[in-house]
Amino acid sequence: MFTPEVLADLNKQETPFYFYHLGLLEQTLYACSEAANPYGFKVHYALKANFNETILRTIAAKGFGADCVSGNEVKLALKMGFKNNEVVFAGVGKSDKEIKEALALDIFCFNVESVEELSIINELAAKQQKKARVAIRINPNVDAKTHQHITTGLEENKFGINTWELNDCVKILHEAKHIELVGIHFHVGSQVRDMDVFKSLCLRVNEFNNWFLDRGFDLKVLNVGGGLGVDYCHPDENSIADFDSYFKVFDQFLERRKGQEVHFELGRALVAGCGALLAKVLYIKKGIKKNFMILDAGMTELLRPALYQAYHKIENLSSTSKNGIKYDVVGPVCESTDTFGKEVLMPESERGDLIAIRTAGAYGEVMASRYNLREPITAVYHQ
Ligand SMILES: *Cc1c(COP(=O)(O)O)cnc(C)c1O
Repeated sequence: MFTPEVLADLNKQETPFYFYHLGLLEQTLYACSEAANPYGFKVHYALKANFNETILRTIAAKGFGADCVSGNEVKLALKMGFKNNEVVFAGVGKSDKEIKEALALDIFCFNVESVEELSIINELAAKQQKKARVAIRINPNVDAKTHQHITTGLEENKFGINTWELNDCVKILHEAKHIELVGIHFHVGSQVRDMDVFKSLCLRVNEFNNWFLDRGFDLKVLNVGGGLGVDYCHPDENSIADFDSYFKVFDQFLERRKGQEVHFELGRALVAGCGALLAKVLYIKKGIKKNFMILDAGMTELLRPALYQAYHKIENLSSTSKNGIKYDVVGPVCESTDTFGKEVLMPESERGDLIAIRTAGAYGEVMASRYNLREPITAVYHQ
C-alpha cells in the first residue's frame, strides 16, 4: 500500500489525514462482484460505513445498490449515482419527514423495524397516493458472537421486529392498501468472521420464508443484511475480505424458491481495507514503566478504539531503527480512552515520524467529531 512514490507524496501532506487506496477499493469491489455474481446475488453497499463522495461514486459506478439508514443517506446515494430502485432504507427511528422524502424518491424498499412503523408508512404513502414497498426486518435471535456493541440480532437488541409480533404485521399487511410486502430482512451484527453465524442465519431465514408462504405471502426478496468482517491484524496479507466463503454459505444453506432474489448489505468488508488514518508523532513521553507516543490524530478522527476497544494495526512509516520499543499510542484529546493501542511494539520512534493506523476505511471518517473543537481533516487518494 505504501510504495516509495506514495510515501514520498504522503510525507508532503499536512497531517492528520485519511488515506484511501482507490486501487485496492476497486480490487475489493471486483472480488465481491466475482464471488456474488455466479449465484445471482445482489449486493447493496451500506453507506454508513463510509460516505466519502469519491468512495461512493466509485462503488455506484460498479453497479452496487445502496443500503441507507437515514434520509440524508438516501439523498446522497442518489446524488452519487446509485439508482433509486436499488436503494433500501433501514433504521429503527425513521422520522415522518424521512419517510415522506424516500416515498417521493420511489426507493426500492423500506426495511421496517416495528409494527407501528408499518402503519405509519401505510398512512404516509396513502397521502402521496403511492404503494410503499416494504420488507419486514425480523430479529432472528442469532448470536453474531462479535463485540456486544456491534451485535444487533438478539432479542435484547433494539433492532427489528420480534417473532411474537409477526402475526400483528400480517394483520396490517392484509388490510393496508398502501404497502406491499416484497421481502424479509435480517442483519445480525458486524465484523463477523465465523461462517457458522451466517449458516445459523440462513436456517432461520428459511423458517421465516416458509412461515410467510403459509400465510399467503410469496416473498420476492430475502435480504440477509451485511456484517462480513475483515482481518484487522494482517492488513497486507489479507487485504480483501473472504467473499468466496461468505457467499458460498448462503448458496449452500439458503433455500430460495424459483425467482426469489437474495440481497446483501455489506459495509465494512467493502471499504475497511482501502483506508488508513495518517498522523505524525508530536511527542514521545516516558511515563511510569511506559512510553507514550502522542499523535496529532485522536479519537475525533478514528473513534473505534475508544468506542468498542477495536484493534487497528499501527505502523511507523518513517523509522528505520532496529530497536523495538513498546508504546502506548495515544491522541491529543482530553479523554483517557483516546488511545489507539497499548504496549504496541514498534521501531524506536521520534517526533515527526509518519504513523499509519491501518484498516480505517470503515466507520472511521464517518464517525469524526469536532470534540475539543478539533479541526476537520481531509482525505488523500492514490490509485
Ligand atoms: C450497519 C448495517 C449494515 C452493514 O454492516 P457491515 O458490518 O458494515 O457490513 C447492513 N445492514 C444494516 C441494516 C446495518 O445497520
